[in-house]
Amino acid sequence: MKIFCIGWNYPQHNSEMRRADLPSEPTLFMKPDTALLRENKPFFLPHFSNQMEHEVEVIVRINRVGRNIQERFAPRYYSEIGLGVDFTARDLQNRCKEKGQPWEIAKAFDNSAVVSEFVPLAEFGKEIQNLNFELWKNGELQQRGCTGDMLFTVNKIIEYISSFFTLKVGDIIFTGTPAGVSKVAIDDHLVGQLEGREMFNFYVK
Ligand code: MG
Repeated sequence: MKIFCIGWNYPQHNSEMRRADLPSEPTLFMKPDTALLRENKPFFLPHFSNQMEHEVEVIVRINRVGRNIQERFAPRYYSEIGLGVDFTARDLQNRCKEKGQPWEIAKAFDNSAVVSEFVPLAEFGKEIQNLNFELWKNGELQQRGCTGDMLFTVNKIIEYISSFFTLKVGDIIFTGTPAGVSKVAIDDHLVGQLEGREMFNFYVK
């Protein structure tokens, strides 16, 4: 399975990262399957970063094989969604950006992709572009987003990804993070909610 991630997809987050221009197409990167962290297992802070940040993101699970999928047909390729954390070693990422290098060491390391259970979208009773989600850190609201604020919709993202990569059953898409990213520390407690439903609940160790 493949893990696709979209960057720069919420204007409020782009502002906090001091990016003013509007991206003309999605920013795409990938994580390997060794990045997966499931079942509320603790996230162990790796030794190579001093600025590990959480990015809470709505995630989509692909349920059919497809390539060159048009936006209007994209809803046929998913029926379940979840919530995840795209852990980012911001200090390494900044160094990579400065040097014009790829992001993998900052974004795709082991356990960098926290993935919740997947839930049928129908259970939320709302359109995929109208879902509210939150990340709580140590009992305080840290990130709050609405998928309606995405610059590129889930269907547009699927069209874009599938123009380069064949999508297969079980592939996961991280759809970008809203504002409020912050550094995590040992013993931090992270809880993610999607439409008020708890999706993940784990500790940083
Ligand atoms: Mg992200």
